[in-house]
Amino acid sequence: MSAIVPALAGVVVAAVQSSFVEWAFHRYWLHRPWLPKGCFTAHTLVHHQLCKFDDTFHVVEEEQHEALTFQWWGGPLLILIALTPWTLAAWGLSHVVALPFVPFLIAMAVTMGVYYAGYEGFHHLMHLPRIPWLERKAFFQFLKRHHRIHHVRMNRNYNVLLPLADVVLGTFTTTAPARAKTPDSARLIARRHSGRTRQAD
Ligand SMILES: [Zn+2]
Ligand SMILES: [Zn+2]
Repeated sequence: MSAIVPALAGVVVAAVQSSFVEWAFHRYWLHRPWLPKGCFTAHTLVHHQLCKFDDTFHVVEEEQHEALTFQWWGGPLLILIALTPWTLAAWGLSHVVALPFVPFLIAMAVTMGVYYAGYEGFHHLMHLPRIPWLERKAFFQFLKRHHRIHHVRMNRNYNVLLPLADVVLGTFTTTAPARAKTPDSARLIARRHSGRTRQAD
């Protein structure tokens, strides 16, 4: 029973941290052209171009599936990086003070895993609606609109799952851009940077 409090603390801390990690990863890796270069190319030059304004936000063509999800190792790697400082701190502190570090760390790891799955799952379903009851939920509509705005205003609304970091760091907005048609040039940019070995027709 004594494991409940540290486990709950782990859930809360990991959820808050995950929102900030998601924000930082999205802003500084997915939208900045540096190492590893593939992050920027796949997200900004392919995904954001294939899905831009409202007319292309939903994935209807085969081509638009590209870069809709991360590589399989993305989640485990991010969770490992996010969890390492806590694990080292807990290991160091365990020599000094007897606290229930194990349930805290397990709860953190599980919460980060759920957060990552939620990010990937929700992001996929925002672009490719497949679950009608989820689509009707107010919270999902709110998050989807939040992400729709990001697809045009790329320096706003970095969070997909929990917009806490957007609020705290001043990038939260509900102001949608003026309606517009996605220019043909967007598709051409995506095609030029596509990671698929596809012949452009
Ligand atoms: Zn997206
Ligand atoms: Zn983005």
